[in-house]
Amino acid sequence: MNLSMSDRAILINAIRDIPDFPKPGIIFKDISTLLSNADAFGVLMRHLHARYSSYDLTHVAGIDARGFIFGAALAQMLGLGFVPIRKKGKLPYTTVSEKYSLEYGVDEVEIHIDAFSGVDKPRVLLIDDLIATGGTAYASANLINKVGAECIEACFIMGLDFLSGQSKLRDLVEVYTVIGVD
Ligand code: AMP
Repeated sequence: MNLSMSDRAILINAIRDIPDFPKPGIIFKDISTLLSNADAFGVLMRHLHARYSSYDLTHVAGIDARGFIFGAALAQMLGLGFVPIRKKGKLPYTTVSEKYSLEYGVDEVEIHIDAFSGVDKPRVLLIDDLIATGGTAYASANLINKVGAECIEACFIMGLDFLSGQSKLRDLVEVYTVIGVD
């Protein structure tokens, strides 16, 4: 299921670039303008629904915090449950965690130990708004596998193609980006 050129243009035009946020040299991809645009949000969600309706998934897992928005909406459209993967210290029940490196220092993501319980062979789609270095997504896909599920694909609304994040993640899981950013 390919995104048409006109739909691609609608999505690109709905995402706002904020230079030097949160620090100098970073161009922040602001998806709030896409979310507030019902036509563009609809184009995106229908595209994701069409792509993933044949994947035989059992859950969608979203990465804290923007992955929750797309992930929860998609899970409902597909008739599936949604699982949050959160930054350390936010989930209330027993968690499994995974550390990953940042440019300076380390960060950690967590998932509830029983996130996929009650399903025999959980087949999970991982989703976030953007992949940059891929560290967050790599740790998140590992978490899904650690708690006994299979991460079928990692999906991002945008991929920063000039960074090597996607190729590293592809060693672990299939990767799909709706829009590549040069
Ligand atoms: P990474 O682990 O480097 O792939 O970073 C991915 C996470 O950081 C995602 O949750 C993104 O929301 C956020 N992020 C990284 N770079 C940007 C950017 N240029 N614009 C918006 N969000 C970003």
